[in-house]
Amino acid sequence: MKDFFNVKEINNVADYQVLVNKEYKLPSNYVPKDLTIIDQQYSEGSQYLRNLAQINFEKMAYDASLVGLTIKAVSTYRSFEYQKNLFNKYVKEKGFNYASMCSAKAGHSEHQTGLAVDISNSNLDYDNFDKTKEFIWVKNNAHKYGFILRYPKNKTNITKYKYEPWHYRYVGELAKELYENDLTLDEKYLYFNK
Ligand SMILES: [Zn+2]
Repeated sequence: MKDFFNVKEINNVADYQVLVNKEYKLPSNYVPKDLTIIDQQYSEGSQYLRNLAQINFEKMAYDASLVGLTIKAVSTYRSFEYQKNLFNKYVKEKGFNYASMCSAKAGHSEHQTGLAVDISNSNLDYDNFDKTKEFIWVKNNAHKYGFILRYPKNKTNITKYKYEPWHYRYVGELAKELYENDLTLDEKYLYFNK
């Protein structure tokens, strides 16, 4: 298997704005210390996020419910081992190139940070999530709760991932700035932090 990136290990693992992508890798033993279970009414099965992300996700899901929408956390924290098996399964089924556009190698998944959440409505149909009113609401409001759409349609050349309408990432205060300037987290680091 080829790596196209000069992979670097991440130091600021517990930072809410931590950049995890194909270039920046989490240590295999990193497990967030404050994983907290999401209220069952806003999740599918037992789903854990870091405490601040969990609080804000529940707030967002509650506010969505006030306008008659159901949003649920379907996939959240994933361990290094879990991600390793998941990626290998994709490679076996679809080949390495395809797998790396839609899944992350172990250590390169934001899900290991406990700050990423795959969102769906009550249909739990990922592929068609962007055709739902829940998607539109989340897309327009997530930044108010500290979340960003992490892999937008028009940024695949930057993120190196295909469009994922369901994958949101908690970044805290920064979310508003990224949303208003139509920037991905990768661009923020590329242009402003170096
Ligand atoms: Zn995801």
